[in-house]
Amino acid sequence: MARLLLRSACLFSIFSLLLSIGVHLRLSAIPVQVDEEKFKRLREEMVRTQIADERWTGAPAVRDARVLQAMREVPRHLFVPQEMVPHAYEDRPLPIGLGQTISQPYIVAKMTELAAPRKTDRALEIGTGSGYQAAVLAKLVAEVSTIEIVEPLGTQAAARLRAMGYRNVEVRIGDGYQGWPEKAPFDIILVTAAPPEIPPKLVEQLKPGGRMVLPVGGRFETQWLMLITKNEKGEVRKREVMPVAFVPMVPGKKKD
Ligand code: SAH
Repeated sequence: MARLLLRSACLFSIFSLLLSIGVHLRLSAIPVQVDEEKFKRLREEMVRTQIADERWTGAPAVRDARVLQAMREVPRHLFVPQEMVPHAYEDRPLPIGLGQTISQPYIVAKMTELAAPRKTDRALEIGTGSGYQAAVLAKLVAEVSTIEIVEPLGTQAAARLRAMGYRNVEVRIGDGYQGWPEKAPFDIILVTAAPPEIPPKLVEQLKPGGRMVLPVGGRFETQWLMLITKNEKGEVRKREVMPVAFVPMVPGKKKD
């Protein structure tokens, strides 16, 4: 009888232990889930109020449904430093450390739309930064190659993208002015830092039929977002889209 009592007491304490672990796990899981829901709502609001509608500045809305969907899906708050998380979905660029910034959501979406991404495209990005623009592109094309000149930023972005499960992005530390000759030509080239002139090697690495989107302008000049297209005959066309403000593209070490 005493043994039976002991056994049931044991079973009872194991049971209550499991129950309390269960309750604890449930309780600690709830805030995470609530946060995810909150961030999802903030992304939907970001797309609706900042991107998919004509802006108060008169800048044109982004209409490409696939681009809008990618902007709804990529968790921008995971690409910014901890102290910037509460501001991740605001209508502005944010500092990402080492003097660099992650572009405003509208600009990321507009540049992506101008590049007219297709599922089979191979894209090159110059200026990996946090990896956010690369992640948005990765949802829309087959393969993204991205180059960052500041080593710690590139390494951190590569680790972040890997941890988040982006399998179609490759990060290289190097000088974007050189492009990525081993992987060229590209259907899309996006440059997310402003060079004073259009880098000729990047134009060379654009496929016939390809699109390049980049800000152009010297340090104290107005920068213009430009769309460069190359037709099937290899002829290059340039169009100024809108004035923008990007960090400057820094010259790398001369190779030639
Ligand atoms: N696309 C990024 C933001 C880029 S900010 C994002 O989504 O977060 C511009 C980046 O360009 C910075 O990280 C800067 O270090 C990088 N950069 C500047 N000059 C460069 C160059 N010559 N080659 C490659 N990257 C460069």
